[in-house]
Amino acid sequence: MAWYRNHYHCGDCGTDWEDEWSCCCDDECPECGSRHWSPLASEDLTEVIAERKSIFAVLRSPAHASDRPRYTQIAEFSSRELAAKLIVDGELT
Ligand SMILES: [Zn+2]
Repeated sequence: MAWYRNHYHCGDCGTDWEDEWSCCCDDECPECGSRHWSPLASEDLTEVIAERKSIFAVLRSPAHASDRPRYTQIAEFSSRELAAKLIVDGELT
């Protein structure tokens, strides 16, 4: 598993909402209760960049995340570019 922010749209009442979860699962409309809406789009938040002072840390949501991301830091960089490169490449070099 991983961590995602899912974007939904209800075809019954037109509500848009988003939710963060450990999978791209269907959700229930928060306005009218209509069910089984699949996400229109999902952002992968399994790996994110956290900026602290001049340090850019890469955080990863571990495989056992289920109800919250449980991020752990996997690396630190001096620039956002280097941190982003790790996420794109998917491995430490
Ligand atoms: Zn609705």
